[in-house]
Amino acid sequence: MKFETIAIHAGQQADPSTGAVMTPVYLTSTFEQDGVGRPRQGYEYSRTLNPTRKALQDCLAALENGTWGLAFASGMAATDTTLRILSAGDHVISGNDVYGGTFRLFDKILRRFGLDFTFADTTDPENLAEAFTPNTRMVWIETPTNPLLAVSDIRAVAAMAKSHPNRPLLVVDNTFATPYLQQPLDLGADLVVHSMTKYLGGHSDVVGGAIIGRDAELGEKFAFLQNAMGGVLGPMDSFLVLRGLKTLPVRMDRHALNAEKIVAFLGAQPTVTRVIYPFDPGHPQAGVATKQMRNGGGMISFVMKGGREAAVRMVESTRLFTLAESLGGVESLIEIPAAMTHASTQGSSLQVDPGLVRLSVGIENVEDLIADLDQAMRE
Ligand SMILES: *Cc1c(COP(=O)(O)O)cnc(C)c1O
Repeated sequence: MKFETIAIHAGQQADPSTGAVMTPVYLTSTFEQDGVGRPRQGYEYSRTLNPTRKALQDCLAALENGTWGLAFASGMAATDTTLRILSAGDHVISGNDVYGGTFRLFDKILRRFGLDFTFADTTDPENLAEAFTPNTRMVWIETPTNPLLAVSDIRAVAAMAKSHPNRPLLVVDNTFATPYLQQPLDLGADLVVHSMTKYLGGHSDVVGGAIIGRDAELGEKFAFLQNAMGGVLGPMDSFLVLRGLKTLPVRMDRHALNAEKIVAFLGAQPTVTRVIYPFDPGHPQAGVATKQMRNGGGMISFVMKGGREAAVRMVESTRLFTLAESLGGVESLIEIPAAMTHASTQGSSLQVDPGLVRLSVGIENVEDLIADLDQAMRE
């Protein structure tokens, strides 16, 4: 089956007891057992597994070309659980332009538990070789990154990771691209992590995360961690993401179509010094992006000539673009990473340009979106 069909059907069939076409929201914490230690259909307790969450997990696995998927209460819960496969003393190489919350978790929390991190620019896979230590057990990348939309060659990073004697796990945070644009497991990654809060949910009405993989042994280890740590996605939230996934392909196509037109508009503005979009021919990794992604996605970053002051004036002047953190919903959002989503990187090597503006381009009419940006630029 092709992607669009999988998005609507995988993991789901009409409810056998009522014929309900949509997966029911199983709001129950526990399940009746037929005898002692004899759960009726494999369900015992909803932290361990819940039927609505299972439908979502199976759909996620299919969309990423994996064999298993696990859903968590947030992207950060999924990220934290991913790192718990490691032990004190292990070393992780992380991309140097990762989501601010990911950097905060690695740098401020997990270091205290004995994990060691090196942040490297993974757009050049050679940098991995330099960052390797005898204890390297995981490589964590985002591509495209947040907020600079830098692209790493997943296949090349995977080959580099496999050259280390420990065969460190390659984890790709696929939040920005989604499986519709890029399937990291096919390119050699061991694990895919998502913030489902973004494009997978797609409607800015749910917070969730996921880990997806192919290797069965890893799947068992992560199912154990999910149950033991307990940061699971609830049934109602699972339903909302499952519903969002059905339109993922059509949404992503429109996000990208709108984004391409906005990139052209921004490129023609004298008040903008730099526009960053993965499929823009001027993007430093456009070649890799067009090779491993189906389209350029819905995220655009650009730098205002007037720096922080001009950026603030602009983002406070839009009427259609909502000034807010987050991304990936049907509605367009605008923000200043240095002051908002990436404030936690202030003073570190990951600090971003204060004049950088990030757009999450929605699926409204693109002429309305451009008119809004145009009037805000004139403020
Ligand atoms: C939002 C985001 C996260 C964190 O996800 P939450 O659902 O907010 O916990 C992780 N990675 C990326 C790339 C994100 O954009």
